[in-house]
Amino acid sequence: MRGIPDPDDARRWIAERRDAVLERLAEVEKRLAEVRTSRADWTDEEHDPEGFTLTFEWQQAEGARAAHQAELDELELAAARVAVGSYGICRSCGLPIPHAQLELRPARTTCVSCAENSPAGRR
Ligand SMILES: [Zn+2]
Repeated sequence: MRGIPDPDDARRWIAERRDAVLERLAEVEKRLAEVRTSRADWTDEEHDPEGFTLTFEWQQAEGARAAHQAELDELELAAARVAVGSYGICRSCGLPIPHAQLELRPARTTCVSCAENSPAGRR
């Protein structure tokens, strides 16, 4: 029977994922800085098509940044669960989450079948 992952594996998955997210976060920050610079030249956003595009890009980048930061927070929590030995247990069905699913998304707190059965917003 499969149990929870080896703590060393879990820590490695979390660390690798954190690196990847940090890399993406850095790219998003760079894009935000670029848009900020361009936007300074386009103050009349409502009537300016380019200003509108920049606003859209800004919102996209802001959204991506928030998502990356949320995932970093989740990864912190995942690392804390590794430390106390509760990592890799589905909080919905209480069964071990398949390792392949954890390797793909180390911050997940439910197994894929539970996640599919409980659409976001319900709970
Ligand atoms: Zn489950």
